[in-house]
Amino acid sequence: MSTKRQDYISWDEYFMGVAMLSAMRSKDPNTQVGACIVSEEHKILSMGYNGFPLGCSDDEFPWNREGEDNKYFYTTHSELNAILNYRGGSLEGATIYVTLFPCNECAKAIIQSGIREVVYDDDKYADTAMVIASKKMLRAAGVTLRRYERSGREVRLAL
Ligand SMILES: [Zn+2]
Repeated sequence: MSTKRQDYISWDEYFMGVAMLSAMRSKDPNTQVGACIVSEEHKILSMGYNGFPLGCSDDEFPWNREGEDNKYFYTTHSELNAILNYRGGSLEGATIYVTLFPCNECAKAIIQSGIREVVYDDDKYADTAMVIASKKMLRAAGVTLRRYERSGREVRLAL
């Protein structure tokens, strides 16, 4: 009788890995963020990345950050996309894995959707008013915030 493999990836690596892979779908030249929503039973419920809404062409709408017509008018963040992509009912009690700490707007959607835990990787905007407000709301709502601990494991996929 053989014993089970020992070097399988952990739940955290699996779900953050899916969030990282989702981010690779983004067309944004500056920022690629991915999110993966998981049930309490460790089932993936939804995924998302930052991009334009359906029908808004990646080739016709602007990706520039400055100017009167810029991407901020049009892009939907990965967390909100993942929440909106879910058609199965309630996200009550779910966990969201996200490659960048959620902004204040996504924090509102996370709270209202019933998600109870945020596992985040990068937190490079921690000192901005936006992220400070986001954390204030998430904590007030009792959402658990947990920083993803990178294992250093490298995964190569031949796609
Ligand atoms: Zn956001």
